[in-house]
Amino acid sequence: METKEVMERAEKVLMHTYGRYPLVLDHGEGMYLYDNDGKEYLDFAAGIGVFALGYNNPDYNKALTEQLTKLTHTSNYYYNIPSTLAAEKFTKASGMDRVFFTNSGTEAVEGAIKLARKYYYNKHKKADSEIIAMNHSFHGRTMGAVAVTGTESYRIPFEPLIGNVKFAEYNDYESVEKLVTDKTAAIIMETLQGEGGIHPANTAFIKAIRKLCDEKDILLILDEVQCGMGRSGRMFAYQCFDVQPDIMTSAKGLGSGVPVGAFAAKEKVATALVPGDHGSTYGGNPLVCAAVSKVFDIFEEKQLIKNANEVGDYLWEKLEEFAKKHSDIIVDHRGMKMMQGLEFKFDVHDTVKRGMDNGLITIAAGANVIRFLPPLIAEKKHVDEMIEKLEKSL
Ligand SMILES: *Cc1c(COP(=O)(O)O)cnc(C)c1O
Repeated sequence: METKEVMERAEKVLMHTYGRYPLVLDHGEGMYLYDNDGKEYLDFAAGIGVFALGYNNPDYNKALTEQLTKLTHTSNYYYNIPSTLAAEKFTKASGMDRVFFTNSGTEAVEGAIKLARKYYYNKHKKADSEIIAMNHSFHGRTMGAVAVTGTESYRIPFEPLIGNVKFAEYNDYESVEKLVTDKTAAIIMETLQGEGGIHPANTAFIKAIRKLCDEKDILLILDEVQCGMGRSGRMFAYQCFDVQPDIMTSAKGLGSGVPVGAFAAKEKVATALVPGDHGSTYGGNPLVCAAVSKVFDIFEEKQLIKNANEVGDYLWEKLEEFAKKHSDIIVDHRGMKMMQGLEFKFDVHDTVKRGMDNGLITIAAGANVIRFLPPLIAEKKHVDEMIEKLEKSL
């Protein structure tokens, strides 16, 4: 199908929930994507932080193909080897005790909220719990996740949502403390805010929140859907702060291309959910779990975390230089390792689009921030190529 025809036909039948760029993607290889006409793009978006391994990884493909021909789905009423292995690797990497696999990030957040509410319900024997969430947060598009998302335009048209949610200011401890009552069941936040414009937690804030939660038996839910899986330079970003959540969520890089998410918790919390409380027909099926399991193996074999640190530092250096050079239009540079952002004085969507003309894919976070979420296999030479193409796109 011709490129123009694809876009015209898609526009007629797909819901208009995205302002799509005029790009028809066909296949990928390593750090590069190729469009319908064979044009090459260096990819610093990784499908919104999904393709940790880059495109067309042969070991990953082999693991998936083998599982595809054996069994893709069983329902969760039976055991299977891939989900057992995936759960072992996930709990070991996260420091959590038990995990529930979902089909997406937003479902992981739903599960985390349900678990927190059930824990509170068991303790207080009443269903009046409250949750504290953060302004400028993003937790997904289903009703529970929307209810804790700190952007009003994402929330208001869909109200009434789940109730008893209050919003505090990220990295402002007093604003959180002020909202705590004896009904507070959980505090939910991203360890590094992604969609909200790449804002990392500061160490004092996250440590003070942990202490507050310990003192009041409030559950700390850390959403690692975007910042987890190596992007921060550790497997999960909270490990950079030496803080453990009670419940955490993951997705995006977890499947590195297949739809899978997870929420996990410490034993004391996880056991609040009992048979009948939660479930998913597809969630954590053998196909996606074969992927998750292989992703963890490849992280180790290819030392992707080590690479994320080295190349992440180099990316930081180069973006600092770039921001200084263009200080007339760039106001801030933020982030951690393989998850960084540049805040401009203007709406960046045109700049992102011009990047595509120059063979570079990046992604906006909000209106004024360009986000850099490369596959974790990126090398320094890719950073150099990205900077050169970004320069041309200004
Ligand atoms: C993307 C994202 C989600 C939602 O994940 P989906 O897979 O799109 O449902 C939730 N939380 C954070 C922090 C995210 O970045």
